[in-house]
Amino acid sequence: MSCIHPAPHPKERRIIFGNLTQPGYAPDLKTYVAHGGYEQLRKALSMTPSAIIDAVKAANLRGRGGAGFPCGIKWSFIKQDDGKPHYLVVNGDESEPGTFKDRYILHEDPHQLIEGVAISSFALGVKLAYIYIRCEFPAAAKIVAAAIAEAKAAGFLGTNILGTGFSLDVFVHQGAGAYICGEETSLIESLEGKRPYPRIKPPYFPAVFGLYMNPTVVNNVETICHIPHILRLGPEEYAKMGTPGDGGTRTLCVSGDVQRPGAYELPAGAVTLRELLYDICGGPKPGRSFKAIIPGGSSAKVLRADEKIKRKVKGPDGTMLDQEIDVLDLVMDAASLAGAGTMIGSGGVIVMDDTRNMVETLNNLNLFYAHESCGQCTPCREGSLWMAKMSSRMLAGGGVENDPKKLKSIADNIAGRTVCAFGEAASWPTQSFLEKFPEEFAAIATKNK
Ligand code: SF4
Repeated sequence: MSCIHPAPHPKERRIIFGNLTQPGYAPDLKTYVAHGGYEQLRKALSMTPSAIIDAVKAANLRGRGGAGFPCGIKWSFIKQDDGKPHYLVVNGDESEPGTFKDRYILHEDPHQLIEGVAISSFALGVKLAYIYIRCEFPAAAKIVAAAIAEAKAAGFLGTNILGTGFSLDVFVHQGAGAYICGEETSLIESLEGKRPYPRIKPPYFPAVFGLYMNPTVVNNVETICHIPHILRLGPEEYAKMGTPGDGGTRTLCVSGDVQRPGAYELPAGAVTLRELLYDICGGPKPGRSFKAIIPGGSSAKVLRADEKIKRKVKGPDGTMLDQEIDVLDLVMDAASLAGAGTMIGSGGVIVMDDTRNMVETLNNLNLFYAHESCGQCTPCREGSLWMAKMSSRMLAGGGVENDPKKLKSIADNIAGRTVCAFGEAASWPTQSFLEKFPEEFAAIATKNK
């Protein structure tokens, strides 16, 4: 069952979900072409690769996988005419807890992704692209592989695409089910058939030493789906939908304690957290109130629903002024959430109401990260497990007074000391839960005093 509501909320603007929510829309080539599919590929093949990259830059498209790096800038790191094979790898390893949008695209509109792959490949000088899909999405892998075969038979992929001389092969690669494969260098290792240990950056930036040590772009499914729409709408029109530096629309997956959870597509920065949770998602469940929100997937730092955010804003004369706002008045875009010490990440908004025990919630997250640590570096491997054991013990009634302090010390000694950003992802929940809900941790820790 889809988590995308058939009728859009008036604040939504659906471009990525535009086709797949049409009544009777089927994930086949005929239906996609009837809805204007592959027209942007035709247009792209009449452009120069650098003109496409310039359009993506001007559109202010940020990656939708979590890190939010500007897509056009990432693409411009690939040196055209360097004589090396270039690769495009689409990250379909969606597994950030609270995030559930790429799966719907893969299942319900695979040709949108394939058209994006073809345009992106042409722009990047790629002749071989991979769509890496986690093994927990077996149906998605089959659907996308069937769509690739259809596109190839119709001349949208393969040799001499649409008679332009551009050739591209695309393959689906199924992962083995590891969260760490969402990290781009780990995904590349996995694609090469190795254990998915993230590579050290520098020197292993994918644009330089990527797949088979050749220049590679790794982008997430939703990011690549935006490419045809940038060409269709024009980069200026596309950028205008969002905020400066964060163009277009953004899918937000809202889960947890709201009346109307689901995946929503909104112009970037178009709503505040309050508008998202109350107007679009119907507010808390009857008789309950919001307690906490994780705004960008499980690794984003948690916010208290009643907290005040202090920030600096530009005054009318250009001087910086102090401002204090309710957390619910934060705009849902990358800059605003970063200013509040958290992030929009993958757009997975996890909502908790006043029935939730924060120690229990953190323990769930700690168990997840302890299980998913790849084990390559000691602070993450040992620290994530240690935190999970401690929060489990606290929950089981074995908390001691020093536990919150020790938990914080462990988390502080993981972040910034590891090979990949998983170290931060594993420690931010503990750091932020302890900071925002100290009373709940202290109460459990002192029960056995
Ligand atoms: Fe592996 Fe964790 Fe180190 Fe990343 S931080 S390389 S997931 S052990």
